[in-house]
Amino acid sequence: MKKLFVSLLSLTLFIQPFFPPALQANATNNTTIPGYRLIEKRFVKEINSTCYYYEHVKSGAKVFKMANDDPNKMFSITFKTLPDNDCGTAHIMEHSVLNGSLHFPVKSPFDIAVKGSLNTFINAFTSKDRTSFPVASMNGKDYFNLMHIYLDAVFNPLIYQNEKIFKQEGWHYELTELNADIQYRGVVYGEMKGAFSNPLRYVTYHTYKNLFPENVYGYESGGYPYAIPDLSWDQFKDFHTKYYHPDNCYIVLYGNEDMEKELSFIDKEYLSKYEKRNINFPIEEHRPFPTLKRVEAHYPVMEGAQTKNQTFLNLCYVTNHGKDITKTYALSILAYYLFNNESAPVRLALEKAGIGKNVSCSVQSYKQNIAQIQLQNANPEELDTFYNIIIRTLKETLNKGIDKSEIESVLNAYEFSLREDNNAQKGISYLSNVLPDFMYNNDPFAGLLYEKVLVELRENLKTDYYEELITSTFLDNNYALLLSVSPKPGLDKEFALADKAKLKAYKEQLSENELNQLIHETKELIQYQESKDSPEDIAKIPNLSLSDIDKKASYYAAEYKEINNHKILFYNDHTNDIVYLKLFFDLRVLPQEMIPYVSLLSDLLGAVDTKNYSYEDLNKAINNHTGGIQTSLILYLENNDDDNLIPKFLVSSKATVSKRDALLELNKEIVCNSVFNDTNRLKNLIKRLHVQLQSQFYRDGSRLASGRLSSYISKSGLFNEYVSGYEYYLFLSDLVKELDKNPGKIIDNLNNVSRLLFSKDNMIIGLACNTDNFNALIPQLHLLSDALQTHTSTYKKWNLTMKNKNEAFSTSSKVQYVYSGYNFNQLGYEYNGKMQVLNKIMSRDWLNQEIRIKGGAYGGYSTLSYAGNVSFVSYRDPNLSETLEKYKQTYDFLQNLQLSEKEMTQFIIGTIAGLDQPKNITAKSMSAFGNYFTKTDASFYQKERDSILSTSVEDIRSYAKMIKEIANKNVISVYGNAEKLESNKQLFSKLIKIE
Ligand SMILES: [Zn+2]
Repeated sequence: MKKLFVSLLSLTLFIQPFFPPALQANATNNTTIPGYRLIEKRFVKEINSTCYYYEHVKSGAKVFKMANDDPNKMFSITFKTLPDNDCGTAHIMEHSVLNGSLHFPVKSPFDIAVKGSLNTFINAFTSKDRTSFPVASMNGKDYFNLMHIYLDAVFNPLIYQNEKIFKQEGWHYELTELNADIQYRGVVYGEMKGAFSNPLRYVTYHTYKNLFPENVYGYESGGYPYAIPDLSWDQFKDFHTKYYHPDNCYIVLYGNEDMEKELSFIDKEYLSKYEKRNINFPIEEHRPFPTLKRVEAHYPVMEGAQTKNQTFLNLCYVTNHGKDITKTYALSILAYYLFNNESAPVRLALEKAGIGKNVSCSVQSYKQNIAQIQLQNANPEELDTFYNIIIRTLKETLNKGIDKSEIESVLNAYEFSLREDNNAQKGISYLSNVLPDFMYNNDPFAGLLYEKVLVELRENLKTDYYEELITSTFLDNNYALLLSVSPKPGLDKEFALADKAKLKAYKEQLSENELNQLIHETKELIQYQESKDSPEDIAKIPNLSLSDIDKKASYYAAEYKEINNHKILFYNDHTNDIVYLKLFFDLRVLPQEMIPYVSLLSDLLGAVDTKNYSYEDLNKAINNHTGGIQTSLILYLENNDDDNLIPKFLVSSKATVSKRDALLELNKEIVCNSVFNDTNRLKNLIKRLHVQLQSQFYRDGSRLASGRLSSYISKSGLFNEYVSGYEYYLFLSDLVKELDKNPGKIIDNLNNVSRLLFSKDNMIIGLACNTDNFNALIPQLHLLSDALQTHTSTYKKWNLTMKNKNEAFSTSSKVQYVYSGYNFNQLGYEYNGKMQVLNKIMSRDWLNQEIRIKGGAYGGYSTLSYAGNVSFVSYRDPNLSETLEKYKQTYDFLQNLQLSEKEMTQFIIGTIAGLDQPKNITAKSMSAFGNYFTKTDASFYQKERDSILSTSVEDIRSYAKMIKEIANKNVISVYGNAEKLESNKQLFSKLIKIE
């Protein structure tokens, strides 16, 4: 059940317009702002905001503001950027403009600004036809600071004066000495080489190249690594001049900031300095193909690599124009019904034929929409079978008639998630809805108006609209591509040799003078990269001071009540008439040996039949009546004490208050009526869980190594190992072996755990909603609780004994994940908020420097928990013993730490920023419930905040001793390359081969 909603939420929907563009009728002029012309003002009830659409008269810039009372303000500026080759110019530009600007002439203004910022979101994106720079903050001063830096970056970057920026961020020839080989270097060059080491990137590359051979969407806007070095500095500068102009920009604002103040600032500092040009950049639509296009392409793998079952098969259709928004939604719903759902007909047909794994269909929305059906782990010779099965199954489905009730249940679930809008970053999320129509049709409103679409989608259930859509999209549509992308051993080497030959030829035609010049330029670039910004320039970056920070810690509390023998935690808040229901069952009623079984139970509930429903019908009912029901385990520590574990089984669900009876009955069905005796289903599910966990361990060694380390140094860590870590994996491995021999034992254990766990006495109900909805739900609680066990619960004694095992997990991975740490409570220290600042400083100024920047790992940092666990972490690390050595040197770093007052302030603000993130209703209520279980009151957080705000350099230095004691414990856990581990085996008590 844990994954119930995954495929549904991954629907990528961009709403397209259904009103003609340039709606002038409603325009009023009561919001005059000098320099701007109001095109339209309208209240948009879907997002509860008054929206304003302006044009900046002199420069032609378009501005859209969504005004409301959300303190998490968002500023963004987007340019239409249309590549005409694969050099990645748009992507290199996105990087380069952030390397210093007129008013902020330092090498990387954002790195400096972000250190002392309270931003809740900051990023930059390049996509096929646009480049966006969004930022969000809940602090007004911070918001304007970051807006200022972004505007200066995009309009006044130093890229025209300083070629080194292009060389550093894009590409350059590197030559260190006369006899050496010339190499390509550059940030984006390296990034895209990395990106193209993932075969999926090749699949996307070939898909768009072949679907859109004659327009902008055929180009790789990120940069195809072998094309990047074709880009010249002049072409690069021209790209900026052409596209980064106000008349080609879309500024989208969101939140409670004073609009006049925002717009006046943008006008005065930037837009008023530009004249509108008489050009625009239309995106040409691509003409359809006369017949289906069939292409076999490849991705590179090493010589001798396994190629069986490694091919991607793709069937793509270019469908409706964005204009028909209802159709775009309808297609996404059909994608779920036909392909993605567990009982989807095409999925079942492909499974039966035994080709490939995990088919999926996604709808991608640009100027023209694409429906892409993708199958993984297949073989190139299966391409035609793949195609034939899809077409045949779609025809059969049409003949049989589609199940409208299933379509309706998907639609209901989608409607719920739209109305709920339970998102802490609303500005960022609306931005992606606004942009497509804003860019393609000059209509920033259309993408937000979903009410009318929902009505149409429902009305269409009564006609054969959905059937016709299947025919027109898939069966009668020749604008389609059938593509296989298979591994080609040795292609890797071929590419590398071609690059080498090109570089060799280039070197040969250079004179000795020119070679010396290149060596000189290489040195100059390195010097530039290593040079420090001048203090005067750094001082130009606006920063917050401690006085700008809110002194009060936020705290969320729930009220405990007992009503009709129900134990209830009530978190009172406005929730759009949705009730959020959490059932907490205490795990301590179980004998210790049942701990892994309770995790299995949480993985299975919702995916197995119940007394009254098949699992398919159960999921349909859940979609029809609720916003989802999920099960999980959660661990609390009373007073943050590792000896006081409060582990809970959690059933999370939500529904509109009018569906409360169905919500409670479905909860009852899952908790009280699940049946486990379908042994075939059970076997399949357990095998799938086992494979999923295994591939997680292969993919991400950090999870394994970190879980293992925590289990050596804390009881909570040990518990987590039993329910989700390597111990749980071993448990599943045993079950897989036992499945055929003795399924009865597994079934008995699952039933026993359910019986002990799910009693009324052992349940605490968490409710988040307002008082009216609370009063409406409470009298109905018996619908759930009447079916629960009635026995009185007693807690069993668990004996969790930690042991330092210093294990190494060996794989074929090329890199290591090196973990080391200990628990400071066990060394006699107590938690203090200042430790959060310590953690920040160790991470950013020491581990990031030594492990990442100097050591070449992807990441290096430390973590610290309330319960006392401190870990040093390296992520994708080429080193091992050197890294452990650096961890030990942390003591010297701290002992000798010198920070200016400004630097210290930045670290404190950075620490506060980590605490002050915007929270959605789920996060607020879970924090309130957590405070109840852990017995944490407001004073704890206030004390923590006060400590953070008053941290001094001396405080940090005083922790050097504690960090030394931790490092000297030599507790480590490493995941990594087999040979590397073998050659360091004296460090470990045990080498474990992952298989
Ligand atoms: Zn990048």
